[in-house]
Amino acid sequence: MTTKLLLTFAICRLIVTVGLTVDPSELLRLGVEGQLSVDPCDVETASLDFGLISRSEPMAVLHPASADDIARLVQAAYLSSQGFTVSARGHGHSINGQAQTSNGVVIEMSGRSRGNRLGPGNLAKPRVAVKEMHVDVWGGELWIDVLRSTLEHGLAPKSWTDYLYLSVGGTLSNGGISGQAFNHGPQISNVYELDVVTGKGELMTCSEEQNSKLFHAVLGGLGQFGIITRARIALEPAPQRVRWIRVLYSNFSTFTRDQEHLISLHGEPSTLKFDYVEGFVIVDEGLINNWRSSFFSPRNPVKISSVGANGGVLYCLEITKNYDESTGDTIDQEVEALMKSLNFIPSTVFTTDLPYIDFLDRVHKAELKLRAKDLWEVPHPWLNLFVPKSRIADLDRGVFKGILGNNKTSGPILIYPMNKNNRTRKHMWDQRSSVVTPDEEVFYLVALLRSALDNGEETQSLEYLTDQNREILSFCDDAGINVKQYLPHYTTREEWMDHFGDKWDQFYQRKMEFDPRRILATGQRIFNPSS
Ligand code: FAD
Repeated sequence: MTTKLLLTFAICRLIVTVGLTVDPSELLRLGVEGQLSVDPCDVETASLDFGLISRSEPMAVLHPASADDIARLVQAAYLSSQGFTVSARGHGHSINGQAQTSNGVVIEMSGRSRGNRLGPGNLAKPRVAVKEMHVDVWGGELWIDVLRSTLEHGLAPKSWTDYLYLSVGGTLSNGGISGQAFNHGPQISNVYELDVVTGKGELMTCSEEQNSKLFHAVLGGLGQFGIITRARIALEPAPQRVRWIRVLYSNFSTFTRDQEHLISLHGEPSTLKFDYVEGFVIVDEGLINNWRSSFFSPRNPVKISSVGANGGVLYCLEITKNYDESTGDTIDQEVEALMKSLNFIPSTVFTTDLPYIDFLDRVHKAELKLRAKDLWEVPHPWLNLFVPKSRIADLDRGVFKGILGNNKTSGPILIYPMNKNNRTRKHMWDQRSSVVTPDEEVFYLVALLRSALDNGEETQSLEYLTDQNREILSFCDDAGINVKQYLPHYTTREEWMDHFGDKWDQFYQRKMEFDPRRILATGQRIFNPSS
């Protein structure tokens, strides 16, 4: 079918289903270079996400050829008498339908890297400015492709997510965190400039200096204020290799004390700190063989019982130190010196050494293993919480040693601290952005990344895990632990207002300014579109 025919079909379907009064020939005259598709495969893909919990069919899917295509479509939605919704879909790795929409068009942002039917090259490839140490990338670019492009110049972005098959626009709409965040802040704090199509269909460039209100609104803005079509991302010289270490603890307060000590070394000369600090909770032995734990080799079996886990729970500190081959002869001493200040169980040091790209791309390897076992495309009732440092021990008592019990967890439970300032960088979690964090200088990410399995074990079913997530949130509420959901999921206005707290008024005003018809990213369920 030609593009024009497909477009007519899509528009007719839109009109029939949503009862739009827009003149189809008007939309045809938009002249998008890309493809507006109602192909059932495209519609099906856009109806689903990684969570596999919610499903919503869009009327059509746009494969854009440029930012102008996106601006034309959004402007048409904004100006049409009844309006229709538009949702950017990065790589569809949300959990609860955040990139879906049922009465509008989904824009497939990450088509370039997947060689969509437009073929590669229709959308700009990453452009590295070596002297300026930044890279300009398409909003739908996957981080793995950003990394590959910048490595060609010996450079790399500074702040990461654990998994790189996520889109730049998708992670910047949330925050983008990993074990480097204590050192560089989240990904949203490592962006110099954005091109954004607002909810009025205007394509605007924004930065700290230019259209700064839009810039701050969009960062961590859950897709509510505009669609990121280009991001200028800060780079640093890429290290060549990574020393990757895991050590175990049976005592929670020793574990968190060490984590907090390590993140306090930020801003020191690079030899005196680690480059990445994360950790995870091991509530059952099965987890040792879990997808993120393949690191523990069969030659190094870990038995919870053999290391004296307190209350059946162990904690694993995960740290890395980057280095170049030319300085490889000092890495052992540097690591040793840093490890001396830590109080892990002495017999539990697991070390590996690998190229930088292999470390950053580590979760993809686990993905391939799970895919081979048909365990990737299963429901993922994930729960991510930011927990104030002062209450993290309560979470240990009430959740890790309490609610979770000794059930098999079918997924990692990450726990690591982040700070808002360090000696070389202030305001790493910029209050002007839309992201919400607890009201303390140091806070933890606690991420329950569990898969629901249809294996007859009640404790691994979607229903059980979803109920347990609710129980965890209620526990925090009852205990007065002021957690904030990361990658938040709420369904009522009251819950969203509570989530944003003091920031709600600003969030609302920004919405009215940049997307007054509330047509963007309705899958977040914060605002209903106005007719
Ligand atoms: P989508 O799910 O496609 O979109 C997310 C939201 O952003 C939607 O509301 C969408 O409308 C909006 N959006 C998408 N693109 C744009 C754009 N260009 N402009 C404006 N709005 C847009 N997060 C971390 O911070 N750290 C991690 O370590 C981490 N690891 C993960 C590992 C896995 C296996 C998975 C599945 C997710 C992980 N995440 C992590 C979460 C991830 O950051 C979010 O799912 C995020 O939404 C990115 O996914 P995406 O690009 O597929 O975006």
